[in-house]
Order: sequence, then structure tokens, then C-alpha cells
Amino acid sequence: MAKRDYYEVLGLSKGASEDEIKKAYRKLAKKYHPDVNKEPGAEEKFKEINEAYEVLSDAQKKAAYDRYGFAGTDPNSGFNAGGFSGFGGFGGMDDLNDIFSSFMGGGFGGFGGFGSSRTSSRNQSVKGENRYMSLNIDFLDAIHGVERVINVDVDKRCERCHGTGAYSDSDVRTCPTCHGSGRVTRSARTAFGMMQQVVECPDCHGTGKIIDKKCPDCNGEGYVHKREEVEIKIPSGIQSGQQVRVAGYGERGYNGGPNGDLYIEINVMPHKYFTRDGNNIYIKVPISSLDATLGCKVDVPTVYGDVELNIPAGTQPNQQFRLKGYGCKDLRSSRVGDQFVEIEVTIPKKLSKEERDLYNQLANRTEKKESVFEKFKRNFK
Ligand SMILES: [Zn+2]
Ligand SMILES: [Zn+2]
Repeated sequence: MAKRDYYEVLGLSKGASEDEIKKAYRKLAKKYHPDVNKEPGAEEKFKEINEAYEVLSDAQKKAAYDRYGFAGTDPNSGFNAGGFSGFGGFGGMDDLNDIFSSFMGGGFGGFGGFGSSRTSSRNQSVKGENRYMSLNIDFLDAIHGVERVINVDVDKRCERCHGTGAYSDSDVRTCPTCHGSGRVTRSARTAFGMMQQVVECPDCHGTGKIIDKKCPDCNGEGYVHKREEVEIKIPSGIQSGQQVRVAGYGERGYNGGPNGDLYIEINVMPHKYFTRDGNNIYIKVPISSLDATLGCKVDVPTVYGDVELNIPAGTQPNQQFRLKGYGCKDLRSSRVGDQFVEIEVTIPKKLSKEERDLYNQLANRTEKKESVFEKFKRNFK
């Protein structure tokens, strides 16, 4: 069964407020709770409602869902964390860096996000920001799936000190200035009189800790910069705009927190002959007017190789034939789409003398019958 849109599940439209989502969820959850509702299908419905609420009640997940649909929310079904995504369009490491920098520029400036809103949690472990990039892949790679090995620049938590930045555990002590809170209260004289201000502790820079002896591996940073080879799997059936998540390859965490994730938005390049709509594939195949009239057999290209197609006599221009099961595999279910073959009938522009004679013979022979055009004129009145 196809997954239903989360808003639809809760009976809401896109853009519903936090409050509306909560209310709709409560109402439906009460109605379909398996302890209360013994109707068949109620339990499935209850699960569906819960899944929808889990995403829509979480601001981050909701934003991802609004933007990317199921592919943005649900990294564990369909594509798997850890292993995938691929890099069609580029070769070397330098190219990758370029792509990173063009996507990371501006909005995701590393630690730009740790401004005032996060000061309160600066001495806690915080997961790093996610990174985003896009990737071109070939049409056929999207159909069949593809694996790539890419080089990614990433800051990894230092294994020696586990992210503390200290030589040993005993080299970390609570900051005496702020008593571990990372913040100090300062009084400042302003035009409005004395103001109390909470600011980052100048001695520990907000971490709440003082390190007496730094870890030699990371020089007290807690993270080490690495260039790693990452094997990425792009699942078969992926479509443009869908994302693949590479867990742990986002920006580094803070205070020993885990890295964010790397999201790769896939852009499927067009094919010279095939086009795709969902899981169905389309191709136009030219045949001569003679073959269309008399019928013929043609070897039609599919993404799985040539398939013999029987073109019946009297086939019309733009007539479509379906090759069942020759489409694309669905990303989530195992369903496979079809290939649709549209016939293009070509009319010869030049005829040899012999051909012209034969056409003339045919024309003379059919003259006695009312022509297609005459019939059209007769009905036109
Ligand atoms: Zn301090
Ligand atoms: Zn270290």
C-alpha cells in the first residue's frame, strides 16, 4: 500500500499550525487507539497516525518532510544510513571540495549557528549541523542504483581523548570562574543605568571546563580533520530531488557531540532517448510508414536491454505500446513500472525511381475507392 501524505493522515492541509497538528493527532489517536477501537484496520491506522505525528510534531523533521517528502524524513526506510549516495558528475577530490564549498557557503558557515540562541547549552554536547550538497547522476544509474566511493573532508571526534581535548580525564577540571555553567553575569553601566548581562565565560569560552594538558592528537580541539573515503550507495529507483543521507559526515559536533549528517540531493540527468515519469519509462521509436501499414517486429531498447515488440499492421502515428515490467523499480516497494513505446511514423522525403513507380501503382489501384480525404470532405458539411 502506498504511504499516505502525513498531513492527509491527520486530516490537515500543508501549512497546518503546531496547535492544529497536536489537536488533530489527539482526536485521531483517541478514536483509533487499539484499546478502544476493535474494528479491523484500526491498529494500522493508529500506527499511521503516530508516524505522521512523530514527524510533524518535530520542527526539524517537519521542515525536512515539507521540503523533501518521505525521502527527507525517513532515513531508515528505503535508503540506509551509513552506506550510500553517489557521485555521478565528478571525478577528483578537488571537484568535491568545490561542490562542498559552493553549497556550504553562506547559510551553513560552519559554526555560524552557535550564536546567542545556543549559548545556554554551550557546555553540553551538541550534534553538529547537517551539510547539504547536490549530485548529478546518470539516468540509467538512477534506474539500476549505483555505488560510489567519494572522498569527504570531515572532522571526526578525536579517538584518543573522545572529544574532550584533554590529555587524560584528570586534566579536565570545572572552570572556577563560572563554576561549570559557561556563563558569567556581568554588570555594565549603560545610558539606562546599571544592567545585568549574562555573557560567555571568558576563561573557558563557554565550555565550563578548563583543560590543563591538551590532547596531543587533536591539540585540544577534541576533533581531528580527516579526508575519508566513503562508500555510498544510491538506491535503484531514486528520482531527482530525493536525498540520500550519509550519517556522520556533516559538520562536527560541539563539546564531544556527534557530527551532523551529510545530505546529498540527487539530480538525475536526462537521457537521450528515455524519459521517466515516476516508475514508468517512455521512449519514442521511429518506424517507416510501410512498416506501420504492414506491421513488423522491432527490437525496442529498454533499460534492461532490447525487447522484441510486435507492431501490428495498421499502427497509427503516436500509438503507444506497453512493455509491462520494463519500467523502474520502486524505491520502497518492489513494484516495477512499465515502459511505454510511442511509435513515430516517418514518411520518406525522397524516393528512388523504382519506389516512386510502386507508390504510383498503389495510388492508381486505390483511386476507385473513396479516398480518406474525400470522405473527410463529405462529412465536413
Ligand atoms: Zn568558565
Ligand atoms: Zn584529542
